[in-house]
Amino acid sequence: MGARTGNSTHALQKRAAAKIAAVLGETWPDAHVELDHRNAYELLAATILSAQSTDKMINTITPALFAKYPDPAALAKAEPAELEPLIFKSGFYRNKAKSLIGMARAVVERHGGVIPDTMEALVSLPGVARKTANVVLGSALGKNEGVVVDTHVARLSQRLGLTKQTDPVKIEQELMQLLPRAQWTDVAHRLIWHGRRTCLAKAPDCDHCPLRPHCPTGSTISANAGKLKQMKPAPKKTAKAAPRRGAR
Ligand code: SF4
Repeated sequence: MGARTGNSTHALQKRAAAKIAAVLGETWPDAHVELDHRNAYELLAATILSAQSTDKMINTITPALFAKYPDPAALAKAEPAELEPLIFKSGFYRNKAKSLIGMARAVVERHGGVIPDTMEALVSLPGVARKTANVVLGSALGKNEGVVVDTHVARLSQRLGLTKQTDPVKIEQELMQLLPRAQWTDVAHRLIWHGRRTCLAKAPDCDHCPLRPHCPTGSTISANAGKLKQMKPAPKKTAKAAPRRGAR
């Protein structure tokens, strides 16, 4: 592809991304992170806990957790055996307990007990990868440092033709090039809301989707909707899932 063709393709994609962002803004103007929190510490802890779980489940766990450990200094002194029963329902609770305590101790030792507000410092904390750091920076600290790419953002970005990548880090890089920095946090929230409410993984509601005029996948999926709805769910894994070590 020549430089000129590449530039014009990028310009077209940028225009498509701008239209999609505008429609998402009209459709989900108030989209926000759905993990209950009052500050950056609570959002960071809740996001670590939410790996392999749902926001709804985590919201049932965190009130008791934050009552007992109201700040990083309190959590840093916790022992896994006393923390684990509080977070048991979130799954992979042993690894998550280690991550939470490790995160809190690092925040106390390296940052005086205050959640740091840079990507570099956040991703160096135990249990914190780029996605979690983006959630905290964007939704608790008001900084557009990147785009949260979870399963919904990845799926919708592909369906909407914004990326052909499958690796979340590469998807994020492409979205950052297509969208103005000021929109990074909001667009991610809106894509997540759209993915949870309309563009579901197995049964996207293309017929009622306001993005359909801008979606290259919509007509294909709609034409095959009957087929999609008859799709059998993926077989349940019988082998015990290996706990994910480390970061979300
Ligand atoms: S038209 Fe269909 S595939 Fe495209 S964003 Fe909407 S629901 Fe998803």
